[in-house]
Amino acid sequence: MEDNPIFNAGLGSSLNMKGEIECDASIMLSDYSCGAVGALRAAGNPIRAARLVMDRTDHVLLVGAGADEFAKRMNLPSADLVTERRAAMHRKNLERLRAGEEVRFMPRIQGLAEEMGIGTVGAAALDRSGGLAAATSTGGLTSKLPGRVGDGAIIGAGTYAGPHAAVSATGHGEPIMRHLVAKTTVDGAGEMGIREAVDNAVEIGRHHGVGFGIVGVEANGAMAHGFTTRAMSWVRRDESGQTTFLD
Ligand code: ASP
Repeated sequence: MEDNPIFNAGLGSSLNMKGEIECDASIMLSDYSCGAVGALRAAGNPIRAARLVMDRTDHVLLVGAGADEFAKRMNLPSADLVTERRAAMHRKNLERLRAGEEVRFMPRIQGLAEEMGIGTVGAAALDRSGGLAAATSTGGLTSKLPGRVGDGAIIGAGTYAGPHAAVSATGHGEPIMRHLVAKTTVDGAGEMGIREAVDNAVEIGRHHGVGFGIVGVEANGAMAHGFTTRAMSWVRRDESGQTTFLD
């Protein structure tokens, strides 16, 4: 998905205020091992960098220049991730900014993006041996401030997994971080099952006016998704390989 320019992740990521790409990505397994990168520029596949943080370092999160240097040392291929579509969205935002318009998600930064386009990618999976995993990758909010790191890089916010469930979240990163949406949902799944936990998270999100979407899977194979936004594209694939799509 990071290689597909329609998504706001890897190639085709949103541009920040200076017209540059800074990606966030994170991954976590049911044994609590995890890795993440924030504001990464150098690698074409940020989720691979996050995985290498998990597999090859003693840390959980690397950001900025340090994350870039790590990705280079790990020989991850770099790539020009800017697409004309995202550059056009950014130019449009700058025009709005100059016109003094206010835009959702970032009212304190005059006139920002009104549309985020097709967004972030996230996955939650259960393997044959019962292992759970969640991962999230994003270019973040269009025209965000340089250096801004969102929920996609934060374990517990955009991504969380434990013995009971694995969850990936997308949407407005700041409140997702404040409410630790992924961890709250995984904890809820341990008590009430993933379906109810996702419904609960959506209810809390609506109550607080948080725009987000989540996908999750439970240790028993149950899957659930939910969103407070107008729509969220998701795909579900079960053991038999049957795939369900919905917008
Ligand atoms: N959650 C991402 C962020 O705030 C954006 C998105 O999911 O589209 O960086």
